[in-house]
Amino acid sequence: PRLVIAIDGPSGTGKSTVARWVAQELGLSYLDTGANYRAATLWCMKNGLDLAHPENVQTQDITELITKMPLAQDLNPNNVSLALNGQDITEAIRTDEVTANVSVLSTRPEVREHLVQLQRQAIEARPRIVVEGRDITTVVAPDAQARILLTASPEIRMARRRQQLRETHQDPTKVESDVLERDAKDSALVDFMTPADGVAEIDSTNLSLEDTVTVVLAEIQR
Ligand code: C5P
Repeated sequence: PRLVIAIDGPSGTGKSTVARWVAQELGLSYLDTGANYRAATLWCMKNGLDLAHPENVQTQDITELITKMPLAQDLNPNNVSLALNGQDITEAIRTDEVTANVSVLSTRPEVREHLVQLQRQAIEARPRIVVEGRDITTVVAPDAQARILLTASPEIRMARRRQQLRETHQDPTKVESDVLERDAKDSALVDFMTPADGVAEIDSTNLSLEDTVTVVLAEIQR
């Protein structure tokens, strides 16, 4: 039977790690929709769109490119990977440049519509799945069997993000722009800070990753 688990929240809550872990525990597929936005951003960059100057970029040019995006993603939580045209982009979508450019795509409603469609198709192809992002509980899969909003204080989110940047050999001093400015931009179109009706909020500020997974699993089994 269908089992869709929707997890939303800002960055630095441990959302991706928790979602992947839950998928592994329950033997489900795993879809990271942030990775979709990042892959689409990289694809636009590779095709010459000047995302550093968004005022010069036509929404229609983005949507046309996305429609033809040759994206392949492995939804196995034990082997998360993405490729464009057969070329692995799993790490390339995590660079500062991509992170800084994503909002050029994610703040345009027409672009979101295209990506939401792609995400819904991925879910229909594998309807036993954990899906994580910003608008899964509200837009992509409001009919999910479990809907969770993962939150944490801004301080702890920045500390976690700083750690993550260090681990991936990126500049940890950029953490404020990376977390707080991105929150502000992302909030323009989606509210991922307050739980929608029927969505369970789990505050991970004082929880370890392992404890967060335990609380999420309990919520799913409830
Ligand atoms: O989750 P992650 O930080 O990788 O997401 C990257 C960006 O993709 C976010 O900052 C946001 O702009 C966008 N995003 C979105 N909706 C989602 C997932 C991600 O707008 N469901």
